[in-house]
Parts: sequence; C-alpha cells; structure tokens
Amino acid sequence: MSNNAFQISVMPGDGIGIEVMEAATAVLQAVEKRHNLGFRLINTPGGAHHYKDTGTPMPESSFETAEKADAILFGAMGWPDIRFADGTEIAPQLDLRFRLELFAGVRPIRAIPGVPLALASPHASEIDFVILRESTEGLFASRGKGTVENDQTARETMVITRDTTERLSHFAFRLAERRAERRGRKGLVTIVDKSNVFRAFAFMRKVFFEVARAYPQVEARHNSIDAMALDLIRKPWDFDVLPMENMFGDILSDLGAGLVGGMGFAPSADVGAKHAMFQPSHGSAPDIAGRGIANPTAMILSMAMMLDWLGEQHGSASCIEAAAEISTAIDAAFGSGAVRSCDVGGQDGTGAITRAVIERLGKTGH
Ligand code: ATP
Repeated sequence: MSNNAFQISVMPGDGIGIEVMEAATAVLQAVEKRHNLGFRLINTPGGAHHYKDTGTPMPESSFETAEKADAILFGAMGWPDIRFADGTEIAPQLDLRFRLELFAGVRPIRAIPGVPLALASPHASEIDFVILRESTEGLFASRGKGTVENDQTARETMVITRDTTERLSHFAFRLAERRAERRGRKGLVTIVDKSNVFRAFAFMRKVFFEVARAYPQVEARHNSIDAMALDLIRKPWDFDVLPMENMFGDILSDLGAGLVGGMGFAPSADVGAKHAMFQPSHGSAPDIAGRGIANPTAMILSMAMMLDWLGEQHGSASCIEAAAEISTAIDAAFGSGAVRSCDVGGQDGTGAITRAVIERLGKTGH
C-alpha cells in the first residue's frame, strides 16, 4: 500500500444499492492493486430496511463515519412499503446532503459507445454534458416545512441565496475549464432558470453572470427551464455544463439519463467544500432487486468520479489515472458488444458486466 491511503464510508443501503455497491467495490479493489493505491472501506449502515429493523433511518454513528471519511460511496436508500408515519419515504441521503452541505449535484450525461440511445440523430453519440443540480436549497429548502391550511391551501417556499449561487457558479465554471482542457474545446456554462417569471430566478441569473466575469475563457449563457427541456431532446450535444435550481435539476437529470440508456448509466456526485458523496442517480429499484440483473455501470462510474475527486483534492495523479481507466474500460466493454445490460434489452447481469469491466482495465482498444 502506498501513502495514498483513503478512508471511504461505504453505504450500500437497500435493494439494488447493495448489489451495485458490491460491483463497484470489486472494480475499486482491482484498480487499487493496479495503481498501488490504498483504500480503507468502512461499511456504514442506513436505509429503509435499517429503519424497519431499528426505528432509525441512519444511526448517528453513520453520519459521524461519513463526516470523518475522505469520501462517501453510496448505493441507494428507500423502499416503497417502508415509510415514516407521515407517508414520506426513508431518504437519509437528503439529510447527508444538507448536513454535509453538499451543494453541487454533479450529474454527467454521456453517450457510452454500444449503449442504445433514445435519439436517432447521428449527433446523439456526441452527447456529453453535465447537469449541475444545486442540492441544498431551491424548492427542497422547504422539505419537511410545507404547510396545508384547513385542507384547502398547501404552501412550500423556495429559497435561493447569493452565497450558494456564487459557490455553484464558481463550481460550474471550474468544471467547464477542466472539461475544456480534457476535451480540447472551449467551455460553455448555461444557467437554466425561469427568470422571466420569478424574482428568485432573476436573482440567481444575476449572481451567475456576476461570477461569470471571473472566467472570460468560458462562455456563459442562459436558458429557460422549459426551453431547456425542449433543447435536451432537439440538440443535447450542444451543451456542456448546466447549473440549475434543485427541483429543476432533479427533473432534468432523469430526462438526461433517458437520453443515454436510462438510470443504470447515470452516475452522480454530491460535492461540498469539504465532503463529497458518490452515488448512482437511480434508486433501490425494488422491482428488480435480488435478481442479479441490476446494471452496475452508474455505480461504477460514480466510484470513478470519487477517484477523480480524491485525485484532485489530494494531488494524486494515480487516482485520476485510475478514474480515467475505469471510464475507458466501461466504454470498451459496451463498445465492443461484449456485454449488453438487461435494462437496455440485453442478457448480462451485474456480475457479467462487472467482470467485463475489470478484464478491460488498463487495456486500450476494444
Ligand atoms: P427512487 O424513487 O428513489 O428514484 P426507484 O428505484 O423507485 O427509486 P429509479 O431509480 O428511478 O426508481 O428507477 C426506476 C426503474 O428503473 C427501476 O424500478 C428499475 O426498473 C429501473 N432501474 C433503475 N436503476 C437500474 C439499474 N441500475 N439497472 C437496471 N434497471 C434499473
């Protein structure tokens, strides 16, 4: 083991969260050996079944472990039949986002070679953009605080702050700079809002363009949420980094996943100033849990995002290389036609895809 030793809080959670986490940790252990890295994986309980067994969605000790760890690897939590008394689902991941101030929800949407795409255009294979979902305020600031008056009027209040909008905007421009370097083209950041109707969004857009001045080498644009929904179907290949309010990001990231094969191909990261959590965009999928057919790609790519983030945070080139190697291995596994996952009409289950990715680590070409 080298001195690149990282402590990872591992939260498999419920349903296919547990299955895809096994896949991701197998790939992590494979790259750990190849790049002489060191990871200490600490299994951290939590989730709907944990709530059913203990009466607590996530023990305080899990929050403490997550807080102390270098990064959090998260599967999926929640189960339709297990709910709080008020009918809401068990979702400790939302508490983690708020408690650890993970304001930047990074959701890359990229066409993986060999994976069937929703759009027939020849440009569809060029889809490569990132939805940057603000994750601590917006409409979700009202979570648990909504009111219903006399069974007649329900209210939820949206919150947009200068501080978080500035942080999100800086994050977006820096991400665009990094992507521009890797892709050899100018970065483009498009703020997505509804500023023609709501003051909160006009304010958000104003703050975004103030921050944009510090990044003259990146192009800054804006788009309305409704126009964006249309454009993501008409020409998604034209976009790069898309920062937006929490609820808008929640919705458009599922649309984005639908463009590139579905939830099984959509990784994500929730990043704050000090902490970061990496999880697939999908949930626990009770309909397919326990059958070994979950697509582990989103979880494996989320783990690769963790390696990339750790590499950036700690100046570890080996971590960054390992992350790129995983992404290349996934492209090679699907691109060669060696595997096709069940969610896109194939026959290959979690184990077969995981093995195909591990076999291709460090090998170039298909
Ligand atoms: P949540 O409501 O928390 O988002 P969910 O599991 O109900 O969780 P999604 O995660 O959005 O909903 O998934 C919807 C459906 O997509 C699942 O029920 C499942 O059929 C399919 N699905 C999601 N993730 C995967 C995956 N990794 N592999 C295969 N199918 C998946």
